[in-house]
Amino acid sequence: MRYPGGVAALSAVDLDIAEGELVAIVGPSGSGKSTLLNIIGTLDRPTSGTVRIAGQDVATLSDRRLSALRARQIGFVFQQFHLTDGLTAVENVATGLLYAGVPRRHRRDRALHALARVGLAHRAGHRPQQLSGGERQRVAIARALVNRPSLVLADEPTGALDTATGQVVLNLLRRLNEQGTTIALITHDRDIAASLPRRIEIRDGRLVR
Ligand code: ADP
Repeated sequence: MRYPGGVAALSAVDLDIAEGELVAIVGPSGSGKSTLLNIIGTLDRPTSGTVRIAGQDVATLSDRRLSALRARQIGFVFQQFHLTDGLTAVENVATGLLYAGVPRRHRRDRALHALARVGLAHRAGHRPQQLSGGERQRVAIARALVNRPSLVLADEPTGALDTATGQVVLNLLRRLNEQGTTIALITHDRDIAASLPRRIEIRDGRLVR
């Protein structure tokens, strides 16, 4: 992957993530972790090379089909949650259904169900500023899950949380993985990385392990 301006952010990356895996992506700042996650998530197209999601070469898809695949198959979680302040928890979760063609009348029920999966059904009517950091991240995880994606990609999901809260969020991701969701997460936290079944180490845009 080469960015405009000539930065080669990733090169010679050959990586398979199997269904049901829970993978940590680790490496120093600027090593290419976010670029890798964006390419796996089909948010960026690589300058060269092939990306397959569920066997399908994403380069063969039009932008529209690619957006549909992303909406249905992939959930994203970010370090800073990216919730909308003016919306309640359940409304924030329901925004995850906007691009997946779910009829309006089903969205709230689906969103409530996803909130229940992260243990926050009782906070459905709260706005983000009325929630703790850990609760906000759990709402963001519910939004990522609401389409029942096969893959969840998380960019430093515990990076804005204290250690104890980070553990709660990590345990939630672990449980979702046990229930069948494939998860790849970027982390700076060595303890978290060490506790996960697989670690991908990246340095200067290359996989080193
Ligand atoms: P990490 O997530 O490991 O911190 P990134 O994937 O964000 O690393 O960045 C990898 C390299 O690509 C860095 O050198 C960074 O400066 C560069 N880079 C990232 N995004 C862009 C962009 N949009 N345009 C140009 N260069 C970028």
